[in-house]
Amino acid sequence: MSNGDLRRRFLLVMALLPMWLHLPVIVNAAPPSMPVSPSECHRMLGQGKVGLARGLADRPTLKSGQAAFDVLHYDLVLRVDPADESLVGDIGIHVASVIASLDSVVLDFVVRPEMTVDSASVDGQAAGFRWGDDAVRIAMPAGLAAGESSWVRVWYHGQPETPTVGFGFGVTPRGHPTIWTLSEPEMARFWWPCKDAPSDKATATISIRVPEPLMAVSNGLLLEIESLGDGTRTWHWSETYPIATYLVSLAICEYDVFEDSYVTTSGDSMPVIYYVYPEHRSRAERDFRFTVDMIEFYASVFGEYPFLREKYGMAEFPWGGAMEHQTVTSYGSPLITGTNIYDWIIAHELAHQWWGDLVTLETWDDIWLNEGFAVYSEALWEEHIAGEGAYHAYMAAMDRKVGFSGTLYGPSADPDSAFMVPYVYTVYDKGAWVLHMLRHVVGDSVFFQILRDYASHTSHAYRTANTVQFQALAEDHHGRSLDWFFTKWVYGTGRPEYEYRWTTRTTGGQHLLMLHIDQVQTASGVFEMPLDVAVEFASGETTFVVVDSLECQDFEVVLEKRPVAVVLDPEGWVLKRAVERPERFALYGVCPNPFHETTRVVYDLHTTQAVEFTIYDVTGRRVTNLVDHVMSPGHHEVVWDGGNDRGERVAPGVYFGKLIVGGRENRIRLVLIR
Ligand SMILES: [Zn+2]
Repeated sequence: MSNGDLRRRFLLVMALLPMWLHLPVIVNAAPPSMPVSPSECHRMLGQGKVGLARGLADRPTLKSGQAAFDVLHYDLVLRVDPADESLVGDIGIHVASVIASLDSVVLDFVVRPEMTVDSASVDGQAAGFRWGDDAVRIAMPAGLAAGESSWVRVWYHGQPETPTVGFGFGVTPRGHPTIWTLSEPEMARFWWPCKDAPSDKATATISIRVPEPLMAVSNGLLLEIESLGDGTRTWHWSETYPIATYLVSLAICEYDVFEDSYVTTSGDSMPVIYYVYPEHRSRAERDFRFTVDMIEFYASVFGEYPFLREKYGMAEFPWGGAMEHQTVTSYGSPLITGTNIYDWIIAHELAHQWWGDLVTLETWDDIWLNEGFAVYSEALWEEHIAGEGAYHAYMAAMDRKVGFSGTLYGPSADPDSAFMVPYVYTVYDKGAWVLHMLRHVVGDSVFFQILRDYASHTSHAYRTANTVQFQALAEDHHGRSLDWFFTKWVYGTGRPEYEYRWTTRTTGGQHLLMLHIDQVQTASGVFEMPLDVAVEFASGETTFVVVDSLECQDFEVVLEKRPVAVVLDPEGWVLKRAVERPERFALYGVCPNPFHETTRVVYDLHTTQAVEFTIYDVTGRRVTNLVDHVMSPGHHEVVWDGGNDRGERVAPGVYFGKLIVGGRENRIRLVLIR
């Protein structure tokens, strides 16, 4: 997650931090609530993950020829020297052909003057290669048949541009070296040759040689620390679960390490390891004290922690945000405050171990499946520790009232832009809102089944998923199509803007509530949504659900008591705007209609009003006027017998009644039949 702008963005983030630090500092032992305005912080979390445009914009995720092979395993052998900010790499790639005859392996690698490709081999034999166009192409000496595999290796060295493109050399507050990577979305290719597409996950071994006393932390399990006898050590890591290239991480520093452990409900235990700058140890101990609780909670909701054979870790790095590297989140120094105010970021990155790392987005257009889910998981943690009201407040804080740009799926053609303003709000916050709305649509029990199945499904777990697959899975559990929901909320833009009014009529001790809802948004078309309607009485209240799906829609409900207030969606389950617009009169309609002999138009006046009611034919010619005077409040009826001003019966057909009350006009369609 870095780019040409990263330094500037980093400074921006640093400038924002003092403001956040004014949030209440919570020092009690109970898990504190998260700050109420996470949305701005999501912008910060996302915005760093922005690749360097530098001619790479609008590139396809897969290069030509990359679909011809599947990567089975990566073997990264790296030597990192902070003294001259250099990197020497030897990358092994175990590839399997998926075509009849694979004659070259195309790897993403952005070769710039600072980096040089030295040589390549195939199955131990020197191989020809070409580099350029942000790729290394290694010739296979003999065509590789479908299903056959080979080991390809690439040797390179140079100085990764730092801290702009995925690889950073920095210093701790005490001036010690700290080296880190952040490769989302497509920056792995700036520091190691790979098939840099999230759709092709592979296992990995990662060996990092660094000068003593530096410690090199990476994904998976630490197998061995090998002393080379020359003042350097190699840290050998093994990631035995498939991993996407953007999740491969190096975090290097003279870390202070402390450990906790997560115990599953069946008694298995897994280390939870923290790697922090020694000067931040005590703050980190306070900040990280709820991590295991969070793992327990998410495991109970989403299914078991996905990388149980390995670890969950957090490694400090100098950036202002955090990144969900598989089994080892990189966590920004400025977030370690000792005050737990960034617990929601810890929750967010941890949730990504399920949403992003276990189930990885298939393409960058599906980025909401990572970020929307991680943000929504923050709200679930908030609900867990602080209750339903806090959950709704958390979601409300993420409603960007000015609107969201672009569609949730593929908000922009360039994967980097998904992490930039304005799309970052869409991907993160609207993404979370879509899950929140889906929960209300399908109900809690089905919703949480969907999440669990999505995380454990054989097509998705340790593999990838796309938006179409997520919809299909949700529909399977819901038992019916959700096309109407996904079309508007995932592939469409905008939100419903409701204007509503209501009135009641009392007959025989029963109260008929007549609710009229208009959708007044213009650009995004009509939404279909279940809407909670809360009705308050002088004492007590009740809630019912209406499915609002038209531009103008009327609902009638019989109530035992007379309502005093009606509120749409009071808890905030729908991303909407809603305003009550009480009318100076209520029109109940026309009965019968169509009519043979006579029909009645029925309306209530709340106050004394000038009323005019005139009938017109379809060409706009006046037929007759039935009312034209000031009328008192109350219930009124006007009857039309199908006659015109001259008292003659008019021909059968369609007519319009224009009812004007206090200057406000209502048009009524009347159909006369014989
Ligand atoms: Zn995230």
